[in-house]
Amino acid sequence: MAEIFDPKPVEVKGFEFDERILKLAEKAEAECSGAFAEADRVARQNGERVLRAFINNKVSAACLGGTTGYGYDDIGRDTLDKVYAEVFGAEDALVRHSFVSGTHALTVALFGILRTGDKIVSLTGKPYDTLEEVIGIRGNGHGSLKDFGVEYDQVDFLPDGKPDLAEIFKKVRGAKVAYIQRSRGYALRPTLTVDNIAEIVKSVKNANPDAVVMVDNCYGEFVETREPLSVGADLIIGSLIKNPGAGIAETGGYIAGKKELVELCSYRMTCVGMGKEVGCTLNQNKPMYQGLFFAPEVVSNAVKTAAFTAKIMSMLGFECLPKPEEKRGDIITTVLMKNAENLVAFCQGVQKGSPIDSYVTPEPWDMPGYDSKVIMAAGAFNMGASIELSADAPLREPFAAYVQGGLTFPTGRMGILTAIQEMYDKHCIRLI
Ligand SMILES: *Cc1c(COP(=O)(O)O)cnc(C)c1O
Repeated sequence: MAEIFDPKPVEVKGFEFDERILKLAEKAEAECSGAFAEADRVARQNGERVLRAFINNKVSAACLGGTTGYGYDDIGRDTLDKVYAEVFGAEDALVRHSFVSGTHALTVALFGILRTGDKIVSLTGKPYDTLEEVIGIRGNGHGSLKDFGVEYDQVDFLPDGKPDLAEIFKKVRGAKVAYIQRSRGYALRPTLTVDNIAEIVKSVKNANPDAVVMVDNCYGEFVETREPLSVGADLIIGSLIKNPGAGIAETGGYIAGKKELVELCSYRMTCVGMGKEVGCTLNQNKPMYQGLFFAPEVVSNAVKTAAFTAKIMSMLGFECLPKPEEKRGDIITTVLMKNAENLVAFCQGVQKGSPIDSYVTPEPWDMPGYDSKVIMAAGAFNMGASIELSADAPLREPFAAYVQGGLTFPTGRMGILTAIQEMYDKHCIRLI
């Protein structure tokens, strides 16, 4: 007689959440339905644009292989530059695993374009923390732009958080680079939408048509259906362990924009004369292509996780930026945690809900490039990748946690719920 297949139910140990947290999550998710539908619409349009660029540029199996040594005639590298250029509306692009971070790519762009006696004006307040030393407004200045005789000026946001267009118009006269940071970074300023960037570009070009409008595009890619180059910016720069790498690219960065500017950047990246024609890709072409291919969908999952985070943390009484209903320009949700205990518990809880290193406990530390202690929760496949669910927070007033990423919404949501559970277990929040 044949054996009867009689599977025994297997006990699956799941997450243990307080019932009230699960109820709250259900309510928050239901209230995000509008934001989710919008994220899906954007992902579809961007996904189509990415696929079209693959097809138009004849990406082949040969492109996925890599080179060693000098990397002459690397078809994968050269084609990927063209695919990026098409996707971002650029004349040319430099996409390289050898950019060690977003800051490195931004630094190459700044030193590639600026010369002694030139002026750079930041139009969106103080730039991202790690760039302060690059510019020479913090640290000993050695090797900074300032050290090379580049002058720096800055236009702050208006009290209502809008860009100060009148002041921008005045200050960009005589500037070589007009610098825009799209995302909030570690600051309480608002993130710019592409419409905001369009307004700023107009002011700049009216005052000084020769200014190079450079945009730090980190965290902004694929959040909207347009990118800054399509509203008149000249150069955009970003990190591949954020949005455009989709958690698949293992490292790297990109620079895209006007051809002659990309060429200057390529001279700074390698050598004058060689530029982008050298640089082997090792085995990094495939993850870079695949990352770009997945990016629109992954970014939409990160945007959904961000909307959910803003909703549920607001329900728990924490102020969030942007507010749950506001239009998003990046994948970051800033949660004002009120005190250090809440902040640390939240970040440690995010870590507990991560796929990698869930059992380790992040602690605040002095991270290179930052001027106060930082706690970082990141249990990611790629170390430090912040398109994967992560929470970073400098331990300083007003104890803001910058929460971003989520490769998939279901796992991003779980990470946020483990954070909330951790806060509850540490008596940081009350549930009703
Ligand atoms: C992440 C980021 C950067 C670059 O950071 P890296 O950690 O060096 O990749 C620059 N600007 C902004 C706004 C960012 O969010």
